[in-house]
Amino acid sequence: MIKHRTHTPFDAKRQALISQLKQRGIIDQEVLRAMSEIPREKFVQPSLQSQAYEDSALPIDERQTISQPFTVAFMTQALHIQPGMKVLEIGTGSGYQAAVLAEMGADVVSIERHPKLSMQAREKLNAMGYQVTCRVGDGTIGYQGGAPYDAIIVTAGAPDVPEPLARQLKIGGRLAVPVGSAKRQNLFIVTRHAEEQWQATDLGSFAFVPLIGVEGWEEDVR
Ligand code: SAH
Repeated sequence: MIKHRTHTPFDAKRQALISQLKQRGIIDQEVLRAMSEIPREKFVQPSLQSQAYEDSALPIDERQTISQPFTVAFMTQALHIQPGMKVLEIGTGSGYQAAVLAEMGADVVSIERHPKLSMQAREKLNAMGYQVTCRVGDGTIGYQGGAPYDAIIVTAGAPDVPEPLARQLKIGGRLAVPVGSAKRQNLFIVTRHAEEQWQATDLGSFAFVPLIGVEGWEEDVR
């Protein structure tokens, strides 16, 4: 999608990170391609740019984080993203995950509860040419206006699978959601097999910031 990007000192570091992701088991070529196109350094605070290609989460404004690159790759791979899919993201944060989905050709709606983060992400995504719809609000209730979705990705840790999200999936659609305590969660892929039939698969342990909202944690959970 980004066609005429100029070379920068970050290119070699970005390619090294992509190699690392492959070694750790990421095999979806489109995920790897998208992440090798997107300048993650532009989604982190200027003072942390030198760390943009370490495989770790980094702080952003509002005491939130940009997710670890491996986590972004792993969740995206688990959703089986194809061009043209309708995807809902809960937790825009820096906008990086939304950029990965948009670069893969998905039609993305992303919800963030902090207006400042949403505004910053929207500006960055627009400047890079990504057509992501950024909305401010409580994503635990989803966004009925864009439903049903092929895929929903929750990038914050929930106490349980938020039911409205499971119900906004298409039949055959997939929801990636970390479920557990406020500090540690297991990543579940919930597939909607029929109108009233869902199946959850546990893909292992991760750590996300808490999902705060009516179908999530209360504001002062940590
Ligand atoms: N996907 C982001 C990760 C950001 S961390 C990225 O690529 O950078 C998770 C984000 O979820 C935080 O910005 C937090 O404010 C947001 N969040 C938490 N609860 C939310 C809710 N109920 N609705 C929308 N956003 C929420």
